[in-house]
Amino acid sequence: MQKNIKYLKGVGEKKAKLLQSELNITRIEDLLYYFPFKYVDRSKIYTIREINAELSQIQIKGKITAFRTEGKSHKKRLIATFRDKTGFVELIWFQSIKWVEQNIKPNVEYIVFGKPNRYKGIVNFAHPEIEAVAEIDTSINTGLESAYNTTEKLKKNYITSKAIHKLQKNARNLLKTPLAETLPLYLTKKLNLMDADTAIRNIHFPENLKALEKAQFRFKFEELFYIQLKILKLKAGRQKKFIGFSFEKIGNYFNSFYYNNLPFELTNAQKRVLKEIRADLKSGKHMNRLLQGDVGSGKTLVALMSMLIALDNGFQACLMAPTEILASQHFDTIRHLLKGLHIEIALLTGSSKKKERTQIQEKLLDGRLQILVGTHALIEDAVRFNNLGIAVIDEQHRFGVAQRAKMWNKNTQPPHIIVMTATPIPRTLSMTVYGDLDISVIDELPPGRKPITTAHYYDSKRSALFGFLRKQIKEGRQIYIVYPLIKESEKMDYKDLEDGYQSIVRAFPAPQYSVAIVHGQMKPADKERSMQIFAGGQAQILVATTVIEVGVNVPNASVMVIESAERFGLSQLHQLRGRVGRGAEKSYCLLMTSYKLSKDAKKRIDTMVNTNDGFEIAEVDMKLRGPGDIEGTKQSGMPFELKIANIVKDGQILQYARDVAEKIIEQDPNFIKKENKILVDQLKKRQNTNKNWKDIS
Ligand code: ADP
Ligand code: MG
Repeated sequence: MQKNIKYLKGVGEKKAKLLQSELNITRIEDLLYYFPFKYVDRSKIYTIREINAELSQIQIKGKITAFRTEGKSHKKRLIATFRDKTGFVELIWFQSIKWVEQNIKPNVEYIVFGKPNRYKGIVNFAHPEIEAVAEIDTSINTGLESAYNTTEKLKKNYITSKAIHKLQKNARNLLKTPLAETLPLYLTKKLNLMDADTAIRNIHFPENLKALEKAQFRFKFEELFYIQLKILKLKAGRQKKFIGFSFEKIGNYFNSFYYNNLPFELTNAQKRVLKEIRADLKSGKHMNRLLQGDVGSGKTLVALMSMLIALDNGFQACLMAPTEILASQHFDTIRHLLKGLHIEIALLTGSSKKKERTQIQEKLLDGRLQILVGTHALIEDAVRFNNLGIAVIDEQHRFGVAQRAKMWNKNTQPPHIIVMTATPIPRTLSMTVYGDLDISVIDELPPGRKPITTAHYYDSKRSALFGFLRKQIKEGRQIYIVYPLIKESEKMDYKDLEDGYQSIVRAFPAPQYSVAIVHGQMKPADKERSMQIFAGGQAQILVATTVIEVGVNVPNASVMVIESAERFGLSQLHQLRGRVGRGAEKSYCLLMTSYKLSKDAKKRIDTMVNTNDGFEIAEVDMKLRGPGDIEGTKQSGMPFELKIANIVKDGQILQYARDVAEKIIEQDPNFIKKENKILVDQLKKRQNTNKNWKDIS
């Protein structure tokens, strides 16, 4: 089946070129693996009397009894009266009129297929598919008809969905022998999968619904299986390539912190995850671990304690955060937590002064500095460690692959890596996008958190809102009011923010109230000052953009107002809400929107009102936006393209495929067994279709 597509009956040079450029189909085999995107039920023929305009695509059988044209020049349209025994409809063409006039004849029996519309009491079909009954190839019309994606360019050259369907038949007929199997035989047997040849036939020409489902399952499994196999093989390879620093002991730093400084009991989830990390660190293997947990689940503490293990073993540690606000807050928290332990710790950001910077670099190089916290300033070449043992990357999706890769080069062999996410990622997605990392999940919040009450208000309720805010302030609480500033450069957004700020200041005037503001275009020092004023309690209200989205921790702030909430994504809303509910007080998240809400926006708002569970929210987010577009994958992109499987819907198949792949890698890591040779061939073959595999996630 290595034959070029141009040799296929019905293709030829010109169409072959188009198929290649538009759909990446070069060989006949590529065509066979070009799967339908849906199936239309063509088993039923409606009578005209049965039609109502609510129906989606249907087919009817009958004859044209008259043609007429209406309108002039570019408004000209051709209308045919089409009858069966029960009544008539109109078929309408606005384009290709000449072609229709030449090819479609009265008094010939046709099948017409399309979506019925009703206009002035008459049912019509605009640009229907139409085919003479005598010419219908009954051997490929089995009831379920496959539909293929095409492009405008292809359609112009008569390569329609239907034409592709016909080509599939020609391709299939060309096969003298069954199509070669692409999975190990023992697998198809054991898992009771349809064989490749039967599956290809059924995917294009389903014998019945059941056979189609079996065929789809087989190809979905196959697709996900090879992706998982590849990911797991990469991971195994990486673990072999890099030796990990072995942190044998738990020493003074960890123990004194744990027994003297830790202000609270660890949650069971934190304990479990720490155990997982501890096992990694002493295994002699290099650790590359994703630490997942909901907002406020206490990831930082776990990261810090892992860093202390490195210190106990004579290594340095660092923590990198995506913004200066977050970095300096981490620095404060950590410094506070480590009080009395005599650990040298420093903060390095873009706004660190030159002198300070030099000092840090010196101490880092000679090993006096033990923990460095900072922004991407950490990965600059000038920053050289004496012996970096572990690097923690907070909100890792904010960093590019190249940036993260630099962290790997900060020692002679890569330091252990912990990456943390801001919000949970659906499990199916982390299995693929972060599939070559080990994953730890903190699925429990520290005790005593009061659930945050979330409510949705239309803008017209603003005065009621202000009343509520005054009451909260009177009780000593503080308030965030966030404006959407999706792109920091958008002028209009700035006007919204500025107007919003002015109106808040008018409603909450000095000297009784104090309102601070923080946004991305302020100088770092000004941002810092605003944050200090708010954190210190001198301002009751902080008007802000999403710069406060991640990590910001002001426990006394108990109300989060989100303006134009319909403009935010779900994970952003959840992150923002996570800024409150950090203290002992009852907390609120108030989502303000206009009356006009799209269906998706309504769903987002409802989800926020109904649940506080970040994992649940992540699932909804993925369903709404698709897996390639949600926080955490948007920046890095999906590392592969799926032809038939769907991460959102096929989670179970994915888990199954991963389990099977895991077992194979465990039993035969280098695919040496004879029956696994096919895996090597298939992985090689699939290499080009998966773009941008990186060995650092
Ligand atoms: P996130 O996982 O969102 O990064 P943080 O690490 O910032 O969360 O923790 C949120 C808050 O919870 C912090 O104020 C932290 O001190 C507190 N915290 C962490 N672990 C516990 C615990 N086991 N018990 C009580 N509070 C905790
Ligand atoms: Mg955090």
